[in-house]
Amino acid sequence: MLALLLAPWWAGAAPRGGNVRPNYVPLGEWARANVFNVHWVERDKTVELQGRNARLQFNVDSRSDARRAQINGVQVWLAFPILYQNGRAYISQIDLSETLGPVLSPPTNPRGINIKTICLDAGHGGNDPGNQVGSNDEKKYTLLLAQEVRPQLLALRFKVVMTRTTDVKISLEDRTAIARKKDADLFVCLHFNSVEQDRNEVKGTEIFCLTPAGATSTNARGEGDTRWVVGNRNDEKNMVLAYQMQKSYEKNLGVEDRGVKRARFQVLREATMPAILIEGGFMSHPTEGRKIFDAAYRKQMAKAVVDGIQAYKRVTKGSNETDSNKKAE
Ligand SMILES: [Zn+2]
Repeated sequence: MLALLLAPWWAGAAPRGGNVRPNYVPLGEWARANVFNVHWVERDKTVELQGRNARLQFNVDSRSDARRAQINGVQVWLAFPILYQNGRAYISQIDLSETLGPVLSPPTNPRGINIKTICLDAGHGGNDPGNQVGSNDEKKYTLLLAQEVRPQLLALRFKVVMTRTTDVKISLEDRTAIARKKDADLFVCLHFNSVEQDRNEVKGTEIFCLTPAGATSTNARGEGDTRWVVGNRNDEKNMVLAYQMQKSYEKNLGVEDRGVKRARFQVLREATMPAILIEGGFMSHPTEGRKIFDAAYRKQMAKAVVDGIQAYKRVTKGSNETDSNKKAE
């Protein structure tokens, strides 16, 4: 039955190279099985699932991108759009297991295994300036932010590894190799965005984690290879880290929430530990740019990064806590 429902949608939108037809399940049935109440926020547009520990919202209107979802108020882009046909909404199995599942019920580390060493990867450097807005190079501000995050983490007894501490170019493969060699538990890449058009409007933070095998990346216009890569072995933890970081940015800085997104950036593909790439705001936006270039605001941004890491550590901690205490934090 579902296969029939899928046919028209896939006719025009099958991802290139992947040949993947995700399994879809009725959202209402999943909601009932997981004790969520379902109601419309706006009929035929936004459906809300209210549970004991979590509130989920899904946009079912394909005209405004039915991959937009919210988990407890944090925007998360689904790997596949919600299908809405004949009054029924369907969600992909891959999003249940790789997007919602890890956030609602985070995977825990074996007891005694702790998050200790954080690798901070200041984007760009040397002859690669990254985005440029006036005389401001992205590479300068990613390093300044990393240098602000580092002491805050050290003060909390984390160990910190930096992929660079000066204005030098480091290859993408070397960045993940450094993290691996130093036994980093998490890999956090720091970047800033920029746009050419709509500079006065486009702002906010987006956090990227690796696209699951077989799915298409959020911003991809057709993607060649969607096969499993080494980074996919941390799919669940990647998602938890990205979600907690986005939530922390919103909570600490009140920034516009552009959401948790998926990408196959080389650093995310090759990281052997849970990894995210933070696009921490738009240098091109008049007010957000000024903040990014400001030392005092940088301290606050650093705190948001540190809080995100601590939240991740807390929800994945293997201990005597029951699952229900940690669910959907
Ligand atoms: Zn960058």
